[in-house]
Amino acid sequence: MLSDHVKAALDPYMAQIVGYRKSGLSLNHIIGCPLDCAYCVRHFWGNFEVKVPHLLCSTDEAIDRLLNHEAFQPHTTPIQLLNKATDGFVPAVKPHLFQILRALDERGYTNHVLVITRFHVTEQDMAELEQLKHVRVTLLFTYSGITDDRIEPIAKSETTIKSIRTAAAHKKRTGMVLYWRPIVPGWNDQPETMAAVLDLGRTVDAIVFTGLYHKQENAEYMRGLGIEVPYGDDFHRRKTMPFDLDAHVVAAWRASGIDTPLFRKTSCGVAHAHGTADYNGHWGIRELCDICPVKQQQLCADDYREPTAEDMDAVLSQLGYETDFVIEPGHVWTHGLGEQRRYAIQHTLRHQIWELDQPHYLGAHGRSLNGHTANPEQVSALADVREQFERAARYEDD
Ligand code: SF4
Repeated sequence: MLSDHVKAALDPYMAQIVGYRKSGLSLNHIIGCPLDCAYCVRHFWGNFEVKVPHLLCSTDEAIDRLLNHEAFQPHTTPIQLLNKATDGFVPAVKPHLFQILRALDERGYTNHVLVITRFHVTEQDMAELEQLKHVRVTLLFTYSGITDDRIEPIAKSETTIKSIRTAAAHKKRTGMVLYWRPIVPGWNDQPETMAAVLDLGRTVDAIVFTGLYHKQENAEYMRGLGIEVPYGDDFHRRKTMPFDLDAHVVAAWRASGIDTPLFRKTSCGVAHAHGTADYNGHWGIRELCDICPVKQQQLCADDYREPTAEDMDAVLSQLGYETDFVIEPGHVWTHGLGEQRRYAIQHTLRHQIWELDQPHYLGAHGRSLNGHTANPEQVSALADVREQFERAARYEDD
């Protein structure tokens, strides 16, 4: 347990126990990780040097905080466990992970629960997961195929490969995603490396691929280790997956001949693993769906409904939020809600809720603009929407 004075000195993001992220309401009352992946996001919040997992509060309190969070809705809100600053299957963390899973399951909640790991998952772990009756758990195994152990020290042990094989051999109701990330030019985009990752993906429900969080803090650390880091100093808040690399990944997947579907979005892979429609409403951004199986597309198409102004008002009042909004095909623009509240609305409506100040661009949804060009028509359409919001702010604000 971290002492109060150490907690007080933490970056506010590290100190936050429950927070809303795109893939779900995220519970992180344990921070610190021994796995030492060089590109770790903990570089951004000054926690990378903490190798021993520490509790921020007791697990009982963490469960209370999750279930009493303003945005938690039984059976609806997707949940992520211990995904920010540790690995749920590290021995010190695992008992807490299972305690939370049992607590959710005992209440009969059927929410999606996402658990990311690259560590040991044993037959016994799978037996425990398979005993759960209600929560829809998905294990997302981060596996990149990177072999440079300066970047991923765990790679040479083949731990993740063994875990994937064990989980696949013993899973029935547990969803399994091979989280193919980060894919980085020069690190793991060689044809034979990609073919090996895809081959491992034969036994999982879905493969989700994504790029690198290219930020100054982790780039400096890796360059200090002598690792070649691409993309220069073009740092972004979103992950980098240039158009060419996306095309290269999709081509490698097609060439592999495997039956496992490939997805660009985490929630799509999780939804597919449990036979549900995507809870982030990505069907509203059809460019993402070109690689998706027809049956899954049908599920998402059947589930898709553009919200009306009344729907938006009802959700805003249910959650106690306020924003102006503009409904456009496939998404709703909002302003000033912040990510956390925006995702709560998105998951309630299973529809894309966008923020005027952080627009997504066609062809680069959820990614940085590295390697993409913004469509001029979209930029000008966006200016129109922006103007509507500005007008509203000018004339309707008290
Ligand atoms: S149809 Fe589109 S939104 Fe639905 S799971 Fe497939 S890729 Fe995702």
